[in-house]
Amino acid sequence: MTLVGDHVDLASPAIKLSSVTRTFPSARGEFTALTDVTLEVRPGEFVSVVGPSGCGKSTVLGLLAGLATPASGTVETFNHPVRGVNRDVGFIFQRDALLPWRTAVQNVALPLRYQGMPKKQALEKARDWLKRVRLGQFAESYPHQLSGGMRKRVAIAATLAYQPKIILMDEPFSALDVQTRTHMEDDLLSLWQEYRPSVLFITHDLEEAVGLSDRVVVMSASPGTVIGDYPIDLPRPRNLMEVRFEPKFTDLYHRIWEQLRAEVQRSHAEEH
Ligand code: ADP
Ligand code: MG
Repeated sequence: MTLVGDHVDLASPAIKLSSVTRTFPSARGEFTALTDVTLEVRPGEFVSVVGPSGCGKSTVLGLLAGLATPASGTVETFNHPVRGVNRDVGFIFQRDALLPWRTAVQNVALPLRYQGMPKKQALEKARDWLKRVRLGQFAESYPHQLSGGMRKRVAIAATLAYQPKIILMDEPFSALDVQTRTHMEDDLLSLWQEYRPSVLFITHDLEEAVGLSDRVVVMSASPGTVIGDYPIDLPRPRNLMEVRFEPKFTDLYHRIWEQLRAEVQRSHAEEH
């Protein structure tokens, strides 16, 4: 396994949340969004988190990104407590965060420039990454000239280009149509395999979670906590068009779905 960065200790987890509670002030006092969340992701591991809407999945990512702090418990990346904006992580959201007044190549070059890379070199590298996501011809296009799937690929290129050791993805493909989505998932896996960052991937699509991941973690209905952790021992590289028809895949899918369905129903019942 190759990892970027010179201070990466392979023995330590890339992500470690220990007994994390997160509360928000609310009109009725304190609202508990997460309770006693304990979760580890190893270097190079691809882990998906599934759970009912509102169970606190995005809140977990926010803590890891350093956008918020827990009420109790600890949040660490590579053995360092997360304090303030976490430079170890790259973030890919459902809504892409491209700057509309910049071209695709300028958007991809931006994080590299923030890292201090000279302009010419940053643009070169950005062009190279756009080619890898099959958008070489669209380097000079503006976001509004690209389809949703293409914009998503620009966002992925922009994150992978600066090679963060951890990538956090919050339902990145949920706005895409099914076919574009499968292509995106395939692209993501082959790019991930190039330098193997740790990935924490949030999705409400269990098929996507099983197809992509080394492990699928199930969260309970709110207040969210981890209630299931399933190793996905399907061989890699995976062809996502085919793997979903394998008996092992369907078996894993059904086992996880049993647990997830109960939580989704519980969450639904509590809303009424
Ligand atoms: P998920 O991503 O699993 O759908 P979230 O992490 O977005 O869930 O939210 C979990 C719970 O915390 C929800 O009930 C949500 O309304 C609440 N919540 C999230 N962010 C805030 C906030 N900034 N202020 C108050 N409540 C919040
Ligand atoms: Mg969310």
